[in-house]
Amino acid sequence: MASPARRSRRRRRPRSCKVADAPPFDVAIVGAGIAGASLAFELANEKNVLILEREDMPGYHTTGRSAAFFSEAYGAPAMRALTTASRAFFESPPAGFAEQELLRASGALYVAREDQRDALEHMAEEQTAAGLLEKRDAAFARAQASVLAPGYVAACLWEPGASEIDVAALHQGYLRGAKRRGAILRCDAELFGAQYESGLWRVATRAGVFEARVLVNAAGAWADAIAEAAGVAPLGLVPFRRTVCIVPGIDDTLVRRWPLVIDVDEDFYFKPDAGNILLSPADETPSPPCDAAPDEIDIAIAVERFERATETRVCRVLRSWAGLRTMAADRTFVLGFDPDQPAFFWLAGQGGQGIQTAPASALCAAALIMGRPLPEAFAKMGVSADALSPGRFSRKAQ
Ligand SMILES: Cc1cc2nc3c(=O)[nH]c(=O)nc-3n(C[C@H](O)[C@H](O)[C@H](O)COP(=O)(O)OP(=O)(O)OC[C@H]3O[C@@H](n4cnc5c(N)ncnc54)[C@H](O)[C@@H]3O)c2cc1C
Repeated sequence: MASPARRSRRRRRPRSCKVADAPPFDVAIVGAGIAGASLAFELANEKNVLILEREDMPGYHTTGRSAAFFSEAYGAPAMRALTTASRAFFESPPAGFAEQELLRASGALYVAREDQRDALEHMAEEQTAAGLLEKRDAAFARAQASVLAPGYVAACLWEPGASEIDVAALHQGYLRGAKRRGAILRCDAELFGAQYESGLWRVATRAGVFEARVLVNAAGAWADAIAEAAGVAPLGLVPFRRTVCIVPGIDDTLVRRWPLVIDVDEDFYFKPDAGNILLSPADETPSPPCDAAPDEIDIAIAVERFERATETRVCRVLRSWAGLRTMAADRTFVLGFDPDQPAFFWLAGQGGQGIQTAPASALCAAALIMGRPLPEAFAKMGVSADALSPGRFSRKAQ
C-alpha cells in the first residue's frame, strides 16, 4: 500500500451560506473514508444520499493508511464478529463491484516468546473453539516465516484464513457503486456546523448549506468534533497514532510467501509488501485529530523489534507513514442512532478494524437507518445492535 502523499491544507471560507438548490436528502454522511463510502453504497438504492468529504480526495486519512489486513482473530469480540460477518462480501461482492479479488489468502501467525506463553494460552482459550486458530509449535512458525530467528518463538497460533485486503479496490468499489446508485459525493465540503429543526438538519459546509433528514457521523478521528458541531454530546472517542514503515526485502521470493507475523501482545507486526517488508511497532499514542505523521522514535522501535525477532539488520527505511485509529473506551465500534438525538447516527470508533469490518458494519448501519432489524445471519455470528449502540455509554457518568 502506498504511503499517503502529504499536502499542506489551505482552509478556505465557505463558498455560500445559501441552502443548496436541491431537495432535502434522506441521509447526509460526513466522511468519505471506508465507513462513509460503504454505508452510502448500502443505502443509495433506497435513499437519497449525500456524502460530504472535507478533503479533495476520499481516503486521504485513515482509510488510505492501513496495513490492509483481514484477521477474524483480531480485536474485541464484537469487532471479530463483524469481521466474520464481512467475509462473505469480501469473497463474493456484488457483480461489477471490483475488477480484482478483494482478499488474498496469506495466513496470520500470532507468535509468543517463552515469557509470553500465558498470553498465547489466553488467546487460544478464548478463540480456538471458533475453529479459526490452530495451536502450533516453533518449528511451524519458522517454516511459515523463515526470517524468524531460531529460538525467538516458543509457540504460536496459526490463522489460515487470514488475508490481505485490496483496500483501494474495496474503497473505490464502494464509492463507484454508491454513485452508480445515485449517491452524490461532494469533496472539499468540510462541515462547519449543523442544526436540527422541524425534522431537518441544515448542514453548513465549505461547499454550501445542505438539508437532510438524517445526519451520519463517519468522520473518523473527527467524530467527536462533528457531534459537537451538531450540538450532540461527544462520546469520548480517542484517536491513537499508529506508525508503519517499509524496509527492503531480504529475498524477494521468500518475503512474498510470509504470512502476517504479529506479536501475541501486539508489540509489533510485520508482513510482506510487494517484495519489501512492512513493519509496525503497533504504537498507540493518543493524538488530537490531525493529518498524522510518523515520529522517528516509533520507526526506530519498529526496526529494533523486527531485528530482535529476526536477527536481521535493517539498513534503511524506504518510506513511512502514520494514521489515526480512533477508539471508544471498550475498543468496539459505535454504530447506531444517538440516544438523545434520534436523527444523528454514529458510525465511528472502528479502531484498527475499520476496513475488515466495513462490509458488515455498512449493512448493519443501513438496516438501522431504514428501520429494519440487523441481517438475521449476522446474529448467529455474534453481531448485536446493543453491543454496538452509542447508548451503551452513560453520558451522565462521564
Ligand atoms: C497504521 C494503520 C494500520 C491499520 N491496519 C488496518 C488493518 O490491517 N485492517 C483494518 O481493518 N483496519 C486497519 N486500520 C484501521 C482502519 O484504517 C480504520 O479503522 C478505517 O480506515 C477508518 O475509516 P473511517 O472511514 O472511519 O475514517 P477515515 O478514513 O479517516 O475517514 C473519515 C473522513 O472524514 C472526513 N472528515 C473529517 N471531518 C470532516 C468534516 N468536518 N467535514 C467533512 N468531512 C470530514 C475526513 O477527511 C476523512 O476522509 C489501520 C489503521 C492504521 C492507522
